[in-house]
Amino acid sequence: MTKENIPALVASAILFAVVSHAHEPVTRARTAVNIPDVPGFVTLKCDFHIHTVFSDGYVWPTVRAEEAWREGLDAIAITDHIEYQPHKSDVNTNHNRSYQIASGRGEDLEVIVIKGSEITHEMPPGHLNAIFLTNSMQLAVRDWREETRIAHQQGAFIFWNHPGWEPQLKNNIVTWHDEHSWLVEQGFLQGIEVVNGRDYYPEAHRWAVDRKLTMLSNSDIHAPLNMDFHVHDGDHRPLTLVFAKARTSEAIREALFDRRTVVYSGDKLIGEERFLKPIFDGSVRFNRTSVTLKGRKPVYLQVSNNSDVPFELERIGVVEGVNLPGTLMIAARKSVLFDLKATAADASGEKRVVVTYRVKNLLVAPGEGLQCEFPFDITFTPASSGNN
Ligand SMILES: [Zn+2]
Ligand SMILES: [Zn+2]
Repeated sequence: MTKENIPALVASAILFAVVSHAHEPVTRARTAVNIPDVPGFVTLKCDFHIHTVFSDGYVWPTVRAEEAWREGLDAIAITDHIEYQPHKSDVNTNHNRSYQIASGRGEDLEVIVIKGSEITHEMPPGHLNAIFLTNSMQLAVRDWREETRIAHQQGAFIFWNHPGWEPQLKNNIVTWHDEHSWLVEQGFLQGIEVVNGRDYYPEAHRWAVDRKLTMLSNSDIHAPLNMDFHVHDGDHRPLTLVFAKARTSEAIREALFDRRTVVYSGDKLIGEERFLKPIFDGSVRFNRTSVTLKGRKPVYLQVSNNSDVPFELERIGVVEGVNLPGTLMIAARKSVLFDLKATAADASGEKRVVVTYRVKNLLVAPGEGLQCEFPFDITFTPASSGNN
C-alpha cells in the first residue's frame, strides 16, 4: 500500500459506513403471550391502567405503545390522572393529549390504544379509571360524582383502582364504602382491580364474585415498564385477559361490560370457571387417555402444556386401582412424564378411572382452585398372563 492510497481508502470506508448505516432497517422483537383462545372468543392481552408524563408518569406516550407491542399485548388504555399533574410546569395540562400521541404509534404497531383517565380522589371513593372516554377535558370538574356521571354519559367503562392501596386504607382494612354502593346503583361502576402492579387483593376478588363486577389486573405503570417488570427474564406485567368477539376497541368494551375477563398476575389466573376451564383445557393435553396395565408394570404418560402459565395440580381424594401422582407441576411450554401403575398385581378387567385435581394457581374464588377431572380408560391384565 502506498501513502497516496490511504486518503482514498479512508474516504471510501467513511462512505461505506454512511451508506450502510442509512440502509440498515431498525429491528425489534415481539414476545408473544401464549394463552389460548376460548370457544367463541379471542383472548386479548390488555393493560388498562398506564401513566405518562402527562400526569405523574416518567415516559412519553409513544413509548407505552411500543412497550405493549414488544410484550405481546393487544390493547392498552392510557389513564393519566385528572387531578394530579406534578410535571405541569414542563408539560401542558391537556387531558386528551397523552392518548392522542400514544394512539398514533398504536395504529402503526397494531396495538389498540384506548382513551382513559384516572379520576383521583381521597377514599371514598378513592381512584377510579374511566376508559373509552370521548373527551377527558370534560372530567376536570373536581367532583367525583359529577365526573363519573360525565364519564358514564360518554359511554365509559368505569372501575375502582387499587382498592387495597395502603395510603388509602381505613385502620388498615380494605373497605367497601357506601359511596361505592352509590356508584354501582347509578350504573357508574362496573369493575374492580383485583390486581394492581404486584398486589393481589382477596377482598376485591370476593367483591367481584359476589357483586358481579368485572375483574381487572393492570400495571399502573409510571416508570419505563422494564424498570419494574423484568420482561426479559420471564417476568410479565399484570394483564387483564379479555374474551372478545373481535380484536377491536368496541369488542373489548362490549366484553368488559359483559364481565368476560380473567386476571393474569405472576403465575396466577383468577376468574370465573367458564373461562379458566377452557384456558386449562386448551393448554394441557395428555398423550393418551386409554392404557393397558400389565401386573404392576408402570406405563408412562405424558402431559404437555403449550401455554405460558405453569399449572400446579393437587389430587383430590384417592383413586381406586391405580397409583397416580398426588401433585403434578406442569411447567409452562413443557411436557411432564409420570408413571401409572396398578395397585394390585392381579387386577383384571376394563375400568374407567376418573381422577380429580385442583389447579392451585387458577383461582375461581379467594383460596379456591379450579377443579378438573381426567378420565382414563384402563385395561388391567394380571402379571401372569402374556409376556412381561
Ligand atoms: Zn391511582
Ligand atoms: Zn394510576
